Amino acid sequence: MTDFYAAVFGAGPSGLSIANALAKKGKSVLLIDPYVSENAPGAPAGLVNPATGRRARLSWRSRECFDALNPLLDELEKFADNDAEPLISRSGVIRPAIDEKLADNFLESLEKYDWPEEWIRWMGPDEVTEFNPEIAPNHGALFLNNGFTVFADRYLNTYRKYLRVKLGVESRYEEGSYQYENNSGTFSISLQEEQFSAEHVIIAAGFNAPRFEDWEYLPLHLVKGQIVHFEADRKLNWDHAVSSMGYALRRGNRELVVGSTYEHNFEGLDTTDDAYRRISEKLENMLPNIAKRVKKIWQVAGIRVTTPNKLPVIGRHREIDNLCIYTAMGSKGLLFSEYTASLLAGHILDDTPIPEELGTDRFHE
Ligand SMILES: Cc1cc2nc3c(=O)[nH]c(=O)nc-3n(C[C@H](O)[C@H](O)[C@H](O)COP(=O)(O)OP(=O)(O)OC[C@H]3O[C@@H](n4cnc5c(N)ncnc54)[C@H](O)[C@@H]3O)c2cc1C
Repeated sequence: MTDFYAAVFGAGPSGLSIANALAKKGKSVLLIDPYVSENAPGAPAGLVNPATGRRARLSWRSRECFDALNPLLDELEKFADNDAEPLISRSGVIRPAIDEKLADNFLESLEKYDWPEEWIRWMGPDEVTEFNPEIAPNHGALFLNNGFTVFADRYLNTYRKYLRVKLGVESRYEEGSYQYENNSGTFSISLQEEQFSAEHVIIAAGFNAPRFEDWEYLPLHLVKGQIVHFEADRKLNWDHAVSSMGYALRRGNRELVVGSTYEHNFEGLDTTDDAYRRISEKLENMLPNIAKRVKKIWQVAGIRVTTPNKLPVIGRHREIDNLCIYTAMGSKGLLFSEYTASLLAGHILDDTPIPEELGTDRFHE
């Protein structure tokens, strides 16, 4: 008998959602992360948007992802202190076509994908101007009713607290390591001053996942990104997110979070002036007048993990059956994590198959 059913390494969106999925099924979970806490600073905002990239592709299994994410958000909002600042802003996402090519792509997307009718609509340029006069001259826009802004720092900290308080997840915000015990087929988990045993280990350590020796064999690709948190000189009069070739997300009365860069070759995690310049250009292309009236409050860089098919990788290790990976959320961690966690939990608990396009099997010979 082990101390925990599962030890999860990493308390980002992936680690939290798999801890939640297992704890909800009555399993004991130990959550370990040396770099965050329940009061950690973090990205001030992130976007949940099912119309992806320049082609506004309907993202992978969006319905299932929304169906898994929405009840969690309701639950976390209920759990959060009523006086606390909001965790999300359900105010939709406008995707202005700031050039003709984007307009062609967006109109094609409406035809090409099986969009649920209530999710998406086309707005002509006049309607866009009426809707938000600050948006740059455009050829029309897509509006995603079900897209929303997540105040990521608050969301993650609330989620961490919720797991501990409501579901009894043991949380340790400190260095930890695991050792597979061949004799028992279980793991010993070493923390700074404690030692535990666990039946399963799940690595959900984001860009550090490939640094765990057992997972070096996965073809994970790292893409750095930077966002800038700006403050405008006066109140901004809209709530919705703006996403064209970059995004601008509203927070508070006067703040805008603008991102992001996609850097495939990079040195280190520091923010750079070059990325700042490119983000400022994105803001200028989307909201030209606002761009003249903002000052930078903060900026931060992070790393996305992707795989060749741009989808998450979840599943078991090729040799150690009860060692699992949960990573490669790319730029969709907020939308994907709850649904993919339910798939991984189902696989660990009941051996339900993992969709081929996500499984670790695709990398095994
Ligand atoms: C600039 C930028 C903008 C983005 N914008 C969006 C957006 O708008 N919408 C969206 O959905 N996604 C966005 N993303 C992507 C999103 O951040 C990721 O998809 C998501 O964070 C992945 O979650 P994760 O838990 O797998 O990894 P992470 O968020 O990286 O979390 C991994 C966790 O593991 C911990 N860890 C690291 N090493 C160890 C270790 N050795 N032991 C234990 N724990 C460890 C880390 O501290 C961290 O808390 C953005 C990413 C970047 C870089």
